Amino acid sequence: MLLQNWWFTTLLGVENPINPPLTTDIEADVLIIGAGVAGLTAAMHLMNKGLNVVILEKNICGGSSSGKSSGFLTPDSELELADLIRRFGKTGALDLWGAGQKGADIIGANVKQYGIDCDYQMQDSLFLGIGAGGWSDIKAEMEARKSVDFAQTLYDREQVKSIIGSQAYSGAVRYPNTAGINSMRYCQGLKRVLLDHGVHIYEASEVVSVAGHCAKTHLGSVTADQIIFCADKLAPSLTPFANRVYHAETFLSISEPISEKKIDEAFPAGRFQCWDSDLVYSYFRLTGDNRLLLGGGDIITTYAKNNVNSARVIDSVHRRFKEKFPMLRDLEFIQYWPGRIDTTRDLLPTIVRDEKTPWLHFVLGCVGLPWATFCGDFVARHSTSGAAWDDHHYYEYFRDDRKFMLPLWLEKAVGKQLVFSLNNAWAKYYQKDLELDPASKEIVHKREAG
Ligand SMILES: Cc1cc2nc3c(=O)[nH]c(=O)nc-3n(C[C@H](O)[C@H](O)[C@H](O)COP(=O)(O)OP(=O)(O)OC[C@H]3O[C@@H](n4cnc5c(N)ncnc54)[C@H](O)[C@@H]3O)c2cc1C
Repeated sequence: MLLQNWWFTTLLGVENPINPPLTTDIEADVLIIGAGVAGLTAAMHLMNKGLNVVILEKNICGGSSSGKSSGFLTPDSELELADLIRRFGKTGALDLWGAGQKGADIIGANVKQYGIDCDYQMQDSLFLGIGAGGWSDIKAEMEARKSVDFAQTLYDREQVKSIIGSQAYSGAVRYPNTAGINSMRYCQGLKRVLLDHGVHIYEASEVVSVAGHCAKTHLGSVTADQIIFCADKLAPSLTPFANRVYHAETFLSISEPISEKKIDEAFPAGRFQCWDSDLVYSYFRLTGDNRLLLGGGDIITTYAKNNVNSARVIDSVHRRFKEKFPMLRDLEFIQYWPGRIDTTRDLLPTIVRDEKTPWLHFVLGCVGLPWATFCGDFVARHSTSGAAWDDHHYYEYFRDDRKFMLPLWLEKAVGKQLVFSLNNAWAKYYQKDLELDPASKEIVHKREAG
């Protein structure tokens, strides 16, 4: 099994995958730093506004998380609907779910409008319960969905066997209107559209410093009226906000193509995109060319300080998967790759416009392609247009100084990883924090925390 990102492999047939780096000093109306889905989506909003838009990307478009992703397009990312209702009440949860849904819809619309060849396929989602705790989570998610009139189907331990070829799950909730995507090819598709519409894209161009309105790379610079950061793993020398971002590592792998017969055994009721109820969960789906994409991790490497590349983690994900799906016990996985996802302590993105330097905008810690898409679009709209967008209140959900269980100063005493993992688990299972007043659209703090 090769340590190599499969989505990079699928780029081999694409023409002109890399755009030359910036080598001169130029000016722009808007500079976007980072060309994952967030930065590219921001540029998509701006491209038809008659503005001079420049993108600086240190790798290739989609070269970091967006191009490593397993490409499940669901509005919930790391927070299920039940988590959101507990934290924000029904109105706030619908508001946040709506943002994720909007992100997923933007992706679907771009694929369709521009004919982007990225293995986009509609697949129902299946959230699978493990053990008694998992069954409770499944039922909670089903109740949450029912309470806001969303469509779903609940399967108990016996029924779940009829839709997925495994005896190992204690139940499942299924819901429609979700999709899977090769998001590396999606990013490269957006790049092509943006270039065709006059956006200037410089790849292999890392921003190493920003002073005032000027961002410098190793070989050139861009001076811009507005600068939008959609970059991951930012150096603290670029902004103090970098310290508010955390990382969670997950591993992904791709199999040899599977025969239709085996697919029918493993997915007897059709193709689903699946994940389970464990805190460090496993996830899997089929690609359009019948390969199994399987991911997961373990508790140590998820929160580890440094990158872990060892195949040991994914080997154990494979072993556990094959125990659940004996018909696939001989399946060979050909490539695997780790990815560190930028996140925040409570799993919601952070969006800030620095008050002292209002031309600088930051999209930070978006967990999930739909969230990153929503945030890129949101910041592009709000940074450049005087129009009174009716979703201005999302700045409140995503402010960097929102409340967290454990405060930042504790990191000095016990370390960043521990504070992050505890905040993360608290946000996922217990936190109750904000509510949206439906009349005033004001965010009300339910509780004061650290
Ligand atoms: C293995 C894995 C599996 C995942 N699975 C899913 C999934 O199934 N579904 C889902 O919705 N999400 C998934 N995610 C998460 C999702 O991919 C990310 O949340 C999302 O892609 C974030 O997008 P982004 O644009 O904010 O960041 P990124 O894609 O990380 O983009 C940031 C860009 O900024 C660039 N950059 C950084 N610093 C600089 C600099 N100084 N100058 C210039 N450029 C810079 C980087 O090279 C990068 O291209 C997964 C992530 C990983 C790693």
